[in-house]
Amino acid sequence: CGVVGVAGVGDAQKEILGMLTNLEYRGYDSSGMAVLSNGRLHVVKRQGALSELKKELAKPSVPLHGSSGIGHTRWATHGAPSDINAHPHLSSDGKVAIVHNGIIENYKPIKEQLLDDGYVFQSETDSEVIANLAAKLYQECGAGSYRQVLSRLQSRLVGAYAVVIQFADAPDLIGGIRNECPLNYIQNDGQSAISSDLSSLVSYGRDVFCLKDKQCVILGNEGVEVFDESGAESEAIAITINWSV
Ligand code: GLU
Repeated sequence: CGVVGVAGVGDAQKEILGMLTNLEYRGYDSSGMAVLSNGRLHVVKRQGALSELKKELAKPSVPLHGSSGIGHTRWATHGAPSDINAHPHLSSDGKVAIVHNGIIENYKPIKEQLLDDGYVFQSETDSEVIANLAAKLYQECGAGSYRQVLSRLQSRLVGAYAVVIQFADAPDLIGGIRNECPLNYIQNDGQSAISSDLSSLVSYGRDVFCLKDKQCVILGNEGVEVFDESGAESEAIAITINWSV
């Protein structure tokens, strides 16, 4: 199980596949990715080995070309391994895509509320509530309020999680939040990368940052913002990777 994301890269699909290959050693039952292309979040996900995802991506009908995206290798906790339960999960309004490691303990009450609000669910996972909750918060907070959405998500979610999030209206912007699951990032030469596993960041540079519990990050064209659940500026832990993959 792992989460990854990239922004500002030449070919997001290729970068994400490379990062997911680095995560394979951790074990997984499904994999998937979302790439932002022409204002739409395109999702491709498959149960089984990464080779199944690669096969699907190789089809000429799959339009996964863009400079930012997110990816996942899943180890199922809620909902059997299947194509539908694989990540990323897209909000029912199509505006937000997420990948998640861990468990959302309070997903049931959140899901009931979102169903009442008219959001639709496809999967049996705990994770899908994050996509629909983020979409609802985005609707409430208004266009461009990515930072508010992330800090509000932090204050609503209970459990262990590393989440990478992407918005359909934000080219080259990737967000992340964590609690009790690792999440690390790097921004270098205009390229941003985020991952639950340090080994998949090494190809982007060696000076990386590790988020602390309840921290949020936004990686975009204008740099990096790290903040906490109240929205206040915060600092991640800087480390230098001095080992080889
Ligand atoms: N709880 C989530 C699921 O079952 C995420 C599992 C994981 O960490 O891969 O889909």
